[in-house]
Amino acid sequence: MKRYYRIDHKNAPRYAVEENGACRLLEGDLFGDHAAGERVRLEACRLLAPIVPSKIVAVGLNYKDHAAEQNKPLPAEPMIFIKPSTSVIGPGDPIVIPERVGRVDHEAEAAVVIGATASRVREADARQYVFGITCVNDVTARELQAKDVQYTRAKGFDSFAPVGPCIAAGLDYGSTSGLAVEGWVNGARRQASSTNQLIFPIDTLIAFISSVMTLLPGDIISTGTPAGIGPLKPGDTVTIKVEGVGELTNPVGLAVSINQPVGKKERP
Ligand code: ZN
Repeated sequence: MKRYYRIDHKNAPRYAVEENGACRLLEGDLFGDHAAGERVRLEACRLLAPIVPSKIVAVGLNYKDHAAEQNKPLPAEPMIFIKPSTSVIGPGDPIVIPERVGRVDHEAEAAVVIGATASRVREADARQYVFGITCVNDVTARELQAKDVQYTRAKGFDSFAPVGPCIAAGLDYGSTSGLAVEGWVNGARRQASSTNQLIFPIDTLIAFISSVMTLLPGDIISTGTPAGIGPLKPGDTVTIKVEGVGELTNPVGLAVSINQPVGKKERP
């Protein structure tokens, strides 16, 4: 198994690959020909989001226990929505809760990173299009989700898609035991399930979504969240764990006014 990290190396983003306990800079194309080069110490590097996707396709109500806690019926086919690429942040970056949006929740999710252009893929072939697995926190403004007809605003704020810490390649995500998925807030476990509980498993999702839109290398499918979602507040620390991938931890930042763009000062 290999874990691919994206790191800040001498002020430039670089990939590094960890295998058999050693981490080396990646030379070449992540999704094509590449080789392991110079050794790096991961502990000394700032981790970046392991991928900047063209899109995140997320799946709603894909665990029975979460559909029950939301008082919603189980969908007959996958319920999908898009999170914009601009919502992506990396490990350690703050989730910023905007003012006046009401409750904002964490959603622990196992996510698939696509490795090759996928269009109208058959379920039996889906695994060939998987590059690896990562953790996603599908941060959600719950009251806006209920108020709006669709999810674009509730799921699309900047910083509402923490991704990381790496992309793990070679995990048997479809095994009967599945991969454990957990969500923790301030050291307390709030969510615990496994990908073997997904209503629509990963290969089914790849076939379904690629029948609608072409998935590009680096695109992310976030597979849905189990029960136990709950609100975040400034000062919290939230961690998503996916077995074989690791831990994605983000602080929750202070609210900023949605009418005052960051970096733009008010007129004197
Ligand atoms: Zn979700």
